[in-house]
Amino acid sequence: MPTNCLFRDDSYLKNCEARFVGITDQGGIVLDRTVFYATSGGQPGDTGALTTQSGARIPITAAVYTDQAKTEIAHVPAPGAPSVTAGDTVIAAIDWDKRYARMRMHTALHLLSVTLPYPVTGGSVGESESRLDFDIPDAGLDKDEITRKVMEMIAADAAVTSRWISDAELEANPGLVKTMSVKPPMGTGRVRLIEIANLDLQPCGGTHVRSTSEIGAVRVTQIEKKGKQNRRVRLAFA
Ligand SMILES: [Zn+2]
Repeated sequence: MPTNCLFRDDSYLKNCEARFVGITDQGGIVLDRTVFYATSGGQPGDTGALTTQSGARIPITAAVYTDQAKTEIAHVPAPGAPSVTAGDTVIAAIDWDKRYARMRMHTALHLLSVTLPYPVTGGSVGESESRLDFDIPDAGLDKDEITRKVMEMIAADAAVTSRWISDAELEANPGLVKTMSVKPPMGTGRVRLIEIANLDLQPCGGTHVRSTSEIGAVRVTQIEKKGKQNRRVRLAFA
């Protein structure tokens, strides 16, 4: 059963009431809706807890999609946690401090990809440090220069907004694809676009802050060579 993913429309929701729908073969708890972001696109799933009507607390150690199409989310309970029963409603609450740090980091990675307009081959979002891997033939990258450019965009306090667009709308507006830094996936019917005002437009399913100023101070800590054409750029909160 598809989960109503509330974080897609409001990444600032810290908790929600939800109805217990079922248990996966692996023991994951499925709810009708959730604020838990599920592991995807280099961003880890949220941790937190579910609290039942009777007051039982179920620590959640991970949130994962159960299907390729990413429509259903399973909340992985800690070993030995109390169980949920059919008909239960719960309050689902995420570890907000950790999630908010990831939202700031994730948004910072968008800015890093603007600063380095090369194909991205991988990435990872952490609470204190994150990285993007770029397909860049030659090095010559300067940590301080990249940091300066990213910090300029953070200081610009640019608005970060999301919108959904249908495959048909996308096809009708080829110019849109041209302005995007990443080519959107087609075939699922609709695509979620993240726009950072005057800076970046790309399809993305992650969680972001509302304005680049919320990211705070960051700096590029390391640029590693990963193979002939690959450079790994690490970013940390300063
Ligand atoms: Zn994103």
